[in-house]
Amino acid sequence: MDACARDVDREAKTLTELDAAIGDADHGENLRRGFKAVTAALAEEPPATPGAVLTLAGRTLISSVGGASGPLYGTLLRRAGKQLGDASSTDLPGLRDALAAGVDGVARLGGAVAGDKTMLDALLPAVDALDGGLQAAATAARQGAVDTVPLLARKGRASYLGERSVGHQDPGAASSALLVAALLEAAG
Ligand code: ADP
Ligand code: MG
Ligand code: MG
Repeated sequence: MDACARDVDREAKTLTELDAAIGDADHGENLRRGFKAVTAALAEEPPATPGAVLTLAGRTLISSVGGASGPLYGTLLRRAGKQLGDASSTDLPGLRDALAAGVDGVARLGGAVAGDKTMLDALLPAVDALDGGLQAAATAARQGAVDTVPLLARKGRASYLGERSVGHQDPGAASSALLVAALLEAAG
């Protein structure tokens, strides 16, 4: 979570610029506020297991981020934390199941599918690639984010733009690539 907060802080301006093109220019700030709250919550009451860390982080994101990404990332982390339970965060199959459960939670909550130009376009390839190792998953997420550029947005604010959403990278897919890389860096 510290690595996520650090990278979100570093990339907040870029994420907000992406959101300015096809949304409402707040994605970087939303996540910066959210992960700042996460870091504070974890410091205040350090959880005993990796699963509990993710669950508390998810709950904190849901309560501190107003935009769509708050409930979505919050659900991802809560579901992943619940699935991980007491397991070690460095056990690759366990990590894969946890990430898969979290990403499934995002799909259920937001109703998006692959190709809708959302964070799922980075998250789903990461889950699929994770059996090949942490680095493979991070690379797949990054590629998935880049591959949202030519897509037409079908969910979230960007979908209001119709054809004008084409030609821009989805901000949530970009932040997902960043967060997956940070999470896996910490797990590795
Ligand atoms: P808001 O759009 O409410 O301002 P953010 O800017 O923080 O929220 O987040 C926008 C991102 O959230 C989008 O780029 C997209 O990746 C993601 N998103 C929005 N709606 C959905 C959805 N229904 N399913 C999955 N992801 C979504
Ligand atoms: Mg926004
Ligand atoms: Mg907003």
